Amino acid sequence: MSEEEFDYDSLLNTAYEAVPETVKSGERFEIPHVDVMNEGKMTIIRNFTEICEKIRRDPNDVIKYLLREFGTAGGIEGRRAILKSRISESSIQARFNTYVETYVICSECGRPDTELVREGRILMLKCDACGAKRPVTVRKGPKPADKPKGPLVVGNIYEVSIEATGKRGDGIARMGAFTIYVKGNYRKGTRLRVKIEKINGTNAFASAVP
Ligand SMILES: [Zn+2]
Repeated sequence: MSEEEFDYDSLLNTAYEAVPETVKSGERFEIPHVDVMNEGKMTIIRNFTEICEKIRRDPNDVIKYLLREFGTAGGIEGRRAILKSRISESSIQARFNTYVETYVICSECGRPDTELVREGRILMLKCDACGAKRPVTVRKGPKPADKPKGPLVVGNIYEVSIEATGKRGDGIARMGAFTIYVKGNYRKGTRLRVKIEKINGTNAFASAVP
């Protein structure tokens, strides 16, 4: 067994030990529900500051994200958020879920006790519960539809870009809500095709393919 393989396995084990407990026991953090009301062409999120408090994020950051995602104007009024388009509650919930998965949930332990820290030009999500740190993939441009959607599938091949390097050189990539650990030694910025070998929660383990 090469050193890389050993390191990959220990990484795998660490992730396994950290994640399944919360998944199995059903203690996974539940994303707060949005309380949405449509009024004419307006959409009002009635419990906006409350749900932001629950995920410990600045309401100004969250509203900015939602407005960008929906390509609409709006803002915060008191404890409510107003969007100047008619958007269904389920659409708002879906985008809010994506926000939480991207900017709040620790992909190692599944807890929401995290904070955003900037390291140079990279926004990192730092977990207060388990100490894990991962880069946040911030979408550039207003077209989220270009991003692959839906869950990863074991056995499928995806093209990824290495965004960070694990302690032992493993490549760390992200796709949607998933963190993909790529067995081997990869530098940041490397683009490669990987085959998904295992998925656990939002962690996926992959190896490079030609
Ligand atoms: Zn954690």
